[in-house]
Amino acid sequence: MNPIQFIAHKRDGQEHRPADIHSFVRSYLTGEVADYQAAAWLMAAFIRGLSIAETVALTEALTHSGRTYSLGYFGTTSVDKHSTGGVGDKTSLVVVPLCAALGAVVPKMSGRGLGFTGGTLDKLEAIPGFRTHLSADEFEAIVAKVGAAICAQTDDLVPADGKLYALRDVTATVESMPLIAASVMSKKLALGCPAIVLDVKTGNGAFMATAEKANALAQLMIAIGNQAQRRVTVLISDMDQPLGQAVGNAIEVKEALDTLSGKGPNDFREHCLAVATEMLLAASIAHTIDEGRERCVAALANGAALAKFVEMVSAQSGCSEALLAGHLPQAPVIYEMLAPTSGYLAGIGARAVGNVAMALGAGRQRKEDQVDHAVGIFLLAKVGDRVTVGEPLALIHARSVTAAREAAMVLLNAFTIAEKPPVARKLIHSIIRGP
Ligand code: URA
Repeated sequence: MNPIQFIAHKRDGQEHRPADIHSFVRSYLTGEVADYQAAAWLMAAFIRGLSIAETVALTEALTHSGRTYSLGYFGTTSVDKHSTGGVGDKTSLVVVPLCAALGAVVPKMSGRGLGFTGGTLDKLEAIPGFRTHLSADEFEAIVAKVGAAICAQTDDLVPADGKLYALRDVTATVESMPLIAASVMSKKLALGCPAIVLDVKTGNGAFMATAEKANALAQLMIAIGNQAQRRVTVLISDMDQPLGQAVGNAIEVKEALDTLSGKGPNDFREHCLAVATEMLLAASIAHTIDEGRERCVAALANGAALAKFVEMVSAQSGCSEALLAGHLPQAPVIYEMLAPTSGYLAGIGARAVGNVAMALGAGRQRKEDQVDHAVGIFLLAKVGDRVTVGEPLALIHARSVTAAREAAMVLLNAFTIAEKPPVARKLIHSIIRGP
């Protein structure tokens, strides 16, 4: 492998041979290709794009960079889920235990924060002791015992995606359709679930901001999944304003816990119900939408979903007592951001909110940065609400008053207040159920 030629090939808009993509990924994993060379290639791929054949080859190379499970290894009711990334998107924390409580087997590999979006792994690690780095043996044992586990890419499991993912996060190479498709699908194909439910976000806080781009990403991932004999369902869901009220890590865990306890903000709860229903349908555990939804509503109300989450947390070494007692990392400063005028909240730019949360420390600017689990933003009003001048619109959880004030100055620009109520956007734009 000559990495310089490989990079130049893509820089000049040429198509790679699948064998060269495999060789590049292998060499990156062994260290023969340096981080800066992989970063240069990612930028070339970002700008020039990848053909379908190149995207499939990259997906395969990432999938097989570690151990893989055969199709159906975790059983016929195993179902995997993935989101393309959003702001305040803590859905996996709810739907994974919820579906497991209803009889699905949910082995899931998640990601960390990417760009301005939060990551499931970073959120879970806000729970004292919670381990996302599991060996393949540990992962399997937890799935067998609990029916669900959420782990990171490791040396055993899609290690090449783990490395490239961290590099994309800090090199402005996230918002690429083929790179996202290969990254998401490699994690899904490696675990062998016959059914995969994808939550493709669209709107200002999504990597694919327009419905057209979100649909194109959905179709690309469906094609990759179908080629690997997976049933793929895609929900195209809204990410124009943050999902729920909490944006951060510990505060998102708290909101997920509230939702698992039958409470939680309405939009987030409805979103979880829609995703979990599709997971139950895909796993053939429910046979109609109404049945799936009713079972999900019941499992949230009767404590079964919460109990399954606590079981999963304990199995992954998390301190469930601390979790249930609300002993999660807490920021020393909670600062109110006030409405500058009265009217209707017409927009909350999700991307800007994500960027402010990152600047507070909830995400990474460099690969080696530690995430601050305590900081974040809690929205007190959502789009469509009537607000009055001087009323708090958001609580900024920060390390210092200075950091909070700086955040508030930027965050305020993310809020649009208008005289008339806005036209409501749908929470779920469409659902594509594959064969
Ligand atoms: N989720 C992933 O796993 N990868 C991406 O590139 C985006 C979202």
